[in-house]
Amino acid sequence: MARKATQLYFTDGNECWHWLGQMKSGEAVITRNGKRQSAKKFFYQQHHQVELDASDRLKNTCGHKGCLNPEHHRVRTDADRELTATKQWLFMLKSSLEKKEQTPQQIASLTTNIRNRAFPLLQTNDVGLIRGIVKCFQLARIYASAAQTTWLNEQMRWLISKEHTIQKNVHSYFNRHN
Ligand SMILES: [Zn+2]
Repeated sequence: MARKATQLYFTDGNECWHWLGQMKSGEAVITRNGKRQSAKKFFYQQHHQVELDASDRLKNTCGHKGCLNPEHHRVRTDADRELTATKQWLFMLKSSLEKKEQTPQQIASLTTNIRNRAFPLLQTNDVGLIRGIVKCFQLARIYASAAQTTWLNEQMRWLISKEHTIQKNVHSYFNRHN
């Protein structure tokens, strides 16, 4: 059965746009004026009346992979890139803590580095970042001095309650909108 050529997507209860058109390398693409381009960027530019550079990337904000609704995206910023890089860095720290025994001096510099680099990004309320820090702190406790352990426990308690608050807010958001 042929579907209407004009229907490029359908919407669901969250106002997410599900693509029905052409795909290329896993990405929705649209051809306009003989030029094939990212459908996500095309809709975003049209809706927000902006021109994006080729290097601009869009960040999804609704949590639904593949959604194309321009209201559910924003342009990726340097802060987004820093957040991603920091989460990768925390993952590396975790791996090195798993592999190698640490001295309390090394734990001291590790916690200082995490405080300086990762703590300022906690304002983004990114759950992945919180989990990354908690995992490092859990492993750090194995090698920590008594004073360090007390500090690490306090931080973990605070971080985990922060994570719960964020998840509760996400949960009530979806209850209100469904
Ligand atoms: Zn969406």
